[in-house]
Amino acid sequence: MKIPFSPPYIDDSVIAEVNDSLRSGWITTGPKVKALEAEIKQLSGAGEVLCVNSWTTGAIMMLRWLGVGEGDEVIVPAYTYCATALAVMWAGAKPVLVDAGEDFNISVEGIRRAITPRTKAIIPVDIAGFPCDYDAIMSIVSEPDVKAMFKPTSAVMKQLGRIAVISDAAHSIGSRYNGKRSGSETDIAIFSLHAVKNITTAEGGAICLNMPAPFDNSKLYTELRMMSLNCQTKDAFTKSKAGGWRYDIVGMGMKANMADVNAAIGLAQIRQYDKLLQERKRVFGIYDKVLGEKAWAITPPEVCEGRESSRHVYALRIKGFTEEQRDEMISKIAAREVAVNVHFIPLPMLTLFRLRGYNINDYPQAYKNYSHEISLPCYPQLTDEQAMYVAQSVAEAYAEVVGSK
Ligand SMILES: *Cc1c(COP(=O)(O)O)cnc(C)c1O
Repeated sequence: MKIPFSPPYIDDSVIAEVNDSLRSGWITTGPKVKALEAEIKQLSGAGEVLCVNSWTTGAIMMLRWLGVGEGDEVIVPAYTYCATALAVMWAGAKPVLVDAGEDFNISVEGIRRAITPRTKAIIPVDIAGFPCDYDAIMSIVSEPDVKAMFKPTSAVMKQLGRIAVISDAAHSIGSRYNGKRSGSETDIAIFSLHAVKNITTAEGGAICLNMPAPFDNSKLYTELRMMSLNCQTKDAFTKSKAGGWRYDIVGMGMKANMADVNAAIGLAQIRQYDKLLQERKRVFGIYDKVLGEKAWAITPPEVCEGRESSRHVYALRIKGFTEEQRDEMISKIAAREVAVNVHFIPLPMLTLFRLRGYNINDYPQAYKNYSHEISLPCYPQLTDEQAMYVAQSVAEAYAEVVGSK
């Protein structure tokens, strides 16, 4: 039985919505993007939502809007996808890596220790869709001594008066934290709508704006929308109307807008969000049932301490396994035609970061999480029978690895 890792969810309604866009005569940013923004706003509870062409571009744009640049530091976890740190580097600042906790997410104590007068933002990541402890993180940035240390270097930073928290919610659309929904807990949150994520537009991202007063999120939306279109005073739709040709460029913007034809995919998916989440829960349930009773398996956090995961990835860990044993186990699973993954290779183990002086020995929990982690496929189309086959393949592979010693 061949099991792919993460095929996109494409049903008739997705195809109909894309067709509708293609036949409408307008395929780039327009009504489908607006409709998707409204849906994401409703699902997340965010103040405003702006769709862009990827998480990465959205994060670079928001760091630049904040005024982050040369000489600044931004705190990011060592255990994440490279984009979290690359966005900081493209903004011109230095990513300061912090070790993970037991639950995969950035260590809150580690954040506190990493703050310096150069710290301008923190980017926590909801690994596998399990939310970070946002009450703790938001309270750190508001502590009087942390605020006193803060040195704003832009008008936006001055107005905020403290370190900004931008959550990397790439995995966590639909997650919940203490009654709040992912996308509404931090100043800014960014979802990824990349092809492997829970809701996708093939490539895309959504920026959630929850800036505190005196910021006005609806004004900010208008400003950022223009910034995502090269800071051009007129969008392509307005310009395409007869007589509407003249425009101005009023700042150094970026080209980060999402196209309607892309938005159409996500629009059809997000309208069925509840159903899609139920299907993910079903798959998690099967894995939990089979693997939860194995003494060697550490099943991923799903619902605990007021937090509920979007169940983006089933991040299984094998107790006491070394990296070599884990790799061997993945080969044995692959031999059964089941595609699995590892989330994530810690950044200091990747060439770019290693060459810049980051050392994995400084991030022992990130290494530990990585060395015995195997992500199992989890998506709505996975049938009970397939999920059972995956779980059994994992159990058999474990027995072979342990037996072969
Ligand atoms: C996928 C992912 C990103 C990047 O998203 P893009 O939309 O591809 O730019 C960033 N952070 C994490 C944790 C991710 O998994």
